[in-house]
Amino acid sequence: MLTLDFHPAGRHFLQIPGPSPVPDRILRAMSYPTIDHRGPEFGALGLQVLAGIKKIFKTVQPVVIYPASGTGAWEAALTNTLSAGDTVLMYETGHFATLWKKMAEALGLKPEFLGLPGIEGWRHGVQADRIEQRLRQDSEHQIKAVCVVHNETSTGVTSDIAAVRRAIDAAGHPALLIVDTISGLASADYRHDEWGVDVTVSGSQKGLMLPPGISFNAVSQKAIAASKNAKLPKAFWDWTDIIEMNQAGYWPYTPNTNLLYGLSEALEMILGEGLDNVFARHQRLASACRDAVRAWGLEIQCADPALYSPVLTGVMTPPGFDADAIRKIIYENFNMSLGTGLGKMKGGMFRIGHLGEANDLTLMATLAGCEMGLKLAGVPLAGSGVVAAMDNLAAQKSKPVLKAA
Ligand SMILES: *Cc1c(COP(=O)(O)O)cnc(C)c1O
Repeated sequence: MLTLDFHPAGRHFLQIPGPSPVPDRILRAMSYPTIDHRGPEFGALGLQVLAGIKKIFKTVQPVVIYPASGTGAWEAALTNTLSAGDTVLMYETGHFATLWKKMAEALGLKPEFLGLPGIEGWRHGVQADRIEQRLRQDSEHQIKAVCVVHNETSTGVTSDIAAVRRAIDAAGHPALLIVDTISGLASADYRHDEWGVDVTVSGSQKGLMLPPGISFNAVSQKAIAASKNAKLPKAFWDWTDIIEMNQAGYWPYTPNTNLLYGLSEALEMILGEGLDNVFARHQRLASACRDAVRAWGLEIQCADPALYSPVLTGVMTPPGFDADAIRKIIYENFNMSLGTGLGKMKGGMFRIGHLGEANDLTLMATLAGCEMGLKLAGVPLAGSGVVAAMDNLAAQKSKPVLKAA
């Protein structure tokens, strides 16, 4: 039995970089009755979401939707395109890149992991020139795919995907380009077709503002051609039947009907606001958040200002202060969840999510919770991050002209 005071008053601040807060509009859309997934109404819904999601990936090519978390779509990208023993070039940008590499090993691939040593690699993005250099050495074309993470959610560092494309082309190498933008999609600018990406992997519970449970593979014609010869075992993840049945708006199995209602609503919200406006809003909030961190006198995990993530900000805690203890104080006192430090950064950082259903005042409340929690934890602060963020946000507004009464 739940006790009556199980839920604290007011709303919980879910400021982790995914799952992000689900807007009421989406929750309501998801509450419609589940329908026959072979009936005519479903076919219309299927066609609508399959067309809409292409606009978010900026592609005219197929986007496969799985009833799975992002990890499933990672596996789908690899098993549809590769064969046992294939060499894949991966890049260590953080915890998620590391998990994807572990998956590649478990599947029987041979990943090569480029990156800077120690924590440095977790503070910078992919160095495209190192990828070009490695591909140039591979004159026999042993490397079958280059796999990179666009927005490394464990650190708050992005990578320049267009530069990786240019590196592959400059080396004249036929490897596929496979990109994880699970946390970047619909928050950070992304261009599947223009950047020549062969498989883009994404998920529902970050920028798309949906609950966890569906994930995506946007694919190129080159990736589809590779899938005809790829020999890794695949059945559930196989693109072939899904893409075939999607042409009429259906799936070979029971899709996640209610999450597709939610996706339809999310697409309406995002395309209604306008993708460029959505990206600009994320940049504005991220910039104010970073000003807060600087005013506190704390360090931003991302060491390259050109690569700051619009999705989240990683905040490094000073030596002697356990970031998870600070997160616990904030959770217990202010009913707010912040992202934990993952892998190499465990205890040394926390992550502030500012993605999806976020605006100036949700950010200000978030930063106020952080500032109060940091003070309670006894972290010496140089100044007020809240004031710095307010100044930043106000400076980004145009001043209204007021007439004297
Ligand atoms: C969230 C995330 C994943 C994992 O997705 P799940 O839905 O948890 O399986 C992988 N990569 C990145 C960059 C992510 O942000």
